[in-house]
Amino acid sequence: MFIGIDDTDSERGLCTTYLAAVLMEKLQPLGELVGRPKLIRLNPCARYKTRGNAALAFQLESDRPEEVMDLALKTVLELSDFSGVNTNPGLVIAEEVTEKMTAFYRRAVTEILEIKEAKKLLDEEGIWYRGFKKGRGLIGALAAIGADLSDYTYELVAYRERSRWGTPRSIDERSVWRGDALTYPRTWDTVDHHNNRVVFAPHSGDPVLFGIRGSDEKAILEAFQTIKSEPVERSVLYQTNQGTDAHILAGEISDVLDSQSYRLHGFVAEPAQAIAGGHLFITLQKGAGRINCAAFEPTKNFRAVVKQLALGDELEVYGSVREGTLNLEKINIIHLAERAEMVVPLCPRCQRSMESAGKGQGYRCRRCKTHAEGRERQLLARDLETGYFEVPPCARRHLSRPLVRMNGEKVHPAR
Ligand code: ATP
Repeated sequence: MFIGIDDTDSERGLCTTYLAAVLMEKLQPLGELVGRPKLIRLNPCARYKTRGNAALAFQLESDRPEEVMDLALKTVLELSDFSGVNTNPGLVIAEEVTEKMTAFYRRAVTEILEIKEAKKLLDEEGIWYRGFKKGRGLIGALAAIGADLSDYTYELVAYRERSRWGTPRSIDERSVWRGDALTYPRTWDTVDHHNNRVVFAPHSGDPVLFGIRGSDEKAILEAFQTIKSEPVERSVLYQTNQGTDAHILAGEISDVLDSQSYRLHGFVAEPAQAIAGGHLFITLQKGAGRINCAAFEPTKNFRAVVKQLALGDELEVYGSVREGTLNLEKINIIHLAERAEMVVPLCPRCQRSMESAGKGQGYRCRRCKTHAEGRERQLLARDLETGYFEVPPCARRHLSRPLVRMNGEKVHPAR
């Protein structure tokens, strides 16, 4: 049985991953879990997301399907925050994962879908489901089951004891830095060195204590054992599409649609301009297509790279388009344009600056009697390298593939 859940939480509390974690425990007497549960992030531009647009799915081997359905239903009813205006839980239980479900996942991570599309597919495929209130969670629940993790990473999520929910988290920061030092780059985004911050724990009232991301289960467990904190009520190691760029479509500037995420190739048509608040914008162009690309203030030191971009630089940009502007997640600088200034020529003999020989007469060196026609073009040094640059860990999007995962490319990982 493939069980998918989504949209059970609100801004005020709870968390769909926690509900899934509790449900997996409750289901233990009724069957056996197969593989790792899946933590699936869907289109980051989806309008009704609470935070990171997460949905959950796991596989259970059971010969008591009726009881499994009953228990899953009861748990969703018990642990969903039905009072949230935008909480519209969805529970899907399928017998198999079909190609249509996988295609639905690919659309859910890249496009904006409607509830009726999920219902139509569920009905067509004869899949058991229950939607509550508007049932919007059916989109995520179905997509999470359909997710094909051809590329994946892991996240270990540690949950808090119920009595502590809503109170400040007690985590020994030094142990977090130690955990990072021991396991980076097999784990990442635990801390942000440049911005001197621990970034693996939320500050909201939900049950999550922290999450450790990485490519290697052993390294994640090593970091987990190193980190000291308040008691962990439970922890789950999820397989996830986080850090894979699953949301990114290869596109052309002239064809982009709002609420989708792209990799776009082009040339800098307008170098960085800052607006109040520390937000930076560049314009990228290819043929007749032009798009504004933003590095907002929270992207911190990434802006120093964007600031150095000059007219004509050849780039690939990665990010989501909202209201016509692409929010940069990373850039690949393919080629740096030459920047030059016109300077007074140097005397070829004595290497000193020449003087004007009079209006329209060029330049001369009085001492050596040498002559030059006019100013000379001198290339300016570019304080920038080619290759990939990314936003720092404190500004990372869940789905963005971090540069530590881009083997074989020229990368400048933000740490
Ligand atoms: P959390 O991360 O705390 O679990 P969340 O950010 O995942 O919260 P949800 O409460 O799951 O937010 O709400 C997101 C809603 O958007 C869900 O109902 C989900 O089914 C729906 N949704 C997900 N992807 C899409 C999409 N591509 N198009 C339209 N709706 C979507």
